[in-house]
Amino acid sequence: MNLMVFGAPGAGKGTQAKFLIEKYDIPQISTGDILRAAIADKTDMGMEAKNFMDAGKLVPDSTIIGIIKDRLAQDDCKKGFILDGFPRTLGQAEALSELMSNMNISLDKVISLNVPDELIVGRITGRRVCSSCGASFHVDFNPSKKEDICDYCESELIIRKDDNAETVKSRLGAYHDQTAPLIDFYTKMGVMVELDGTKDVSEVTADMFTALSK
Ligand SMILES: [Zn+2]
Repeated sequence: MNLMVFGAPGAGKGTQAKFLIEKYDIPQISTGDILRAAIADKTDMGMEAKNFMDAGKLVPDSTIIGIIKDRLAQDDCKKGFILDGFPRTLGQAEALSELMSNMNISLDKVISLNVPDELIVGRITGRRVCSSCGASFHVDFNPSKKEDICDYCESELIIRKDDNAETVKSRLGAYHDQTAPLIDFYTKMGVMVELDGTKDVSEVTADMFTALSK
């Protein structure tokens, strides 16, 4: 099962990806992780990437594609994989299609977890985190017993810097700008599965597995 999962921050992508990893016994391939691993392992592509980074430049798509190619060739990808965080542009999507076709790998499905922005803003801005033990709460979905006080250690609960409405809205705007052309691209390819991410986690999971079994 060769997959890709799209979801705005707060749409539940990480949660659903975990279910996919368990069910199909496939690795989640995050470009950030494999880039770091390639550099640590001093592979040719890793060294190429490091040269760009040391020079303060962005690692070009061709190098990232090379690193993905090396990763997809590894044994644990034989049963499939979940690509995470790549592609981010149409150019990357096209380069990835070409790579996969050269490797005789087909993309089975691209899953998008759709949640309206207002709902995501509510989910994220309602988060409260313990300043001491790190326990997390939500004012509506998982409130602490005493307002703004941690249930476990009685320290003060805080709102993380990135969890304010303005930051969340700007991240969502960037996400939509980036993914809209990709969703178009994969819809035309006939592999796009758009799921209603506003449902309960277990319902979203059920919808996802139903779509994947088709
Ligand atoms: Zn605490």
